[in-house]
Amino acid sequence: MRCSLIFLEGVRVADPRRLYLKLQAELGGAEVYRSQPAAPRLPVAAVLLDGAEPSSPDRRTGDEAEATAAAAQGEQSVRARSDWRRNLPPIPGPGLEVVGPEVGLLDALPIYPSLEALAGAVRECRKCFLCQGRTHTVPGEGNAQAGLMCVGEGPGETEDRTGRPFVGRAGALLTDILAAIELPRESVFIANVVKCRPPQNRKPLPDEMQACLPYLRRQIQLIRPKVLLALGATAAEGLLGARKTLGELRGRVHRFDGIPLVVTYHPAALLRNPNWKKPTWDDVRIARQLLDA
Ligand code: URA
Ligand code: SF4
Repeated sequence: MRCSLIFLEGVRVADPRRLYLKLQAELGGAEVYRSQPAAPRLPVAAVLLDGAEPSSPDRRTGDEAEATAAAAQGEQSVRARSDWRRNLPPIPGPGLEVVGPEVGLLDALPIYPSLEALAGAVRECRKCFLCQGRTHTVPGEGNAQAGLMCVGEGPGETEDRTGRPFVGRAGALLTDILAAIELPRESVFIANVVKCRPPQNRKPLPDEMQACLPYLRRQIQLIRPKVLLALGATAAEGLLGARKTLGELRGRVHRFDGIPLVVTYHPAALLRNPNWKKPTWDDVRIARQLLDA
């Protein structure tokens, strides 16, 4: 890498790479403005790892150790964050098992031949109250051959405006989380339990979920992902039909129609409570391992 001198608040910094790593660490992996050619963009595991990993014990004492540790911290922590395989959580045991009803039979829905046909039907759908307040339907988007399929609760304001899932603040976090486990957003499929925005982003009512679920089930049938990731308790409830807390649902590999299903926190919940980042990091790495299995 070509190195040039850079100045931070008027101080000459001899090792631009170290500074870059330090800034990256401080900013949680976000963009850093710098006066040198771009260093390679680092993975963004930092979005979930900030404060999550215990730092390795340093047996040295005194000023020297402190100074060295401080200088190395940025570089070390970024290096640690760059690999999701470090300190992998074990794959947990089995949980709930759901065999979905035959799509089309019990649901009284036509069997849509493709994701596009299904999205077209969703656009016209008036099967529940949520059609009344929507600007756009949000059927879902992504890779039709995805290995991982993420399922959220329902569209929020930005999603309703754009017709795309997870594009608001929570969506940006989801995109970063996926990048941190080396899954570009375009490589997965992202959908929701309900395809129209509930008023004031309230939780969808049971009859709204019931009305909309056949679409999600058919999407899963068409994509046949290797792993399902339910984001939040409502998504889990829609898929598993069980009303349980997230605490009860995490730490198990459930099955939906034979497909391994991992449940984790909704990214919007992570924005409210950073304490849930560490468990989420474990959950998504369990899902990632199942994808590789
Ligand atoms: N929250 C969800 O559950 N789904 C979206 O698409 C956006 C936010
Ligand atoms: Fe139809 Fe689902 Fe929208 Fe209700 S939420 S109107 S079932 S697409």
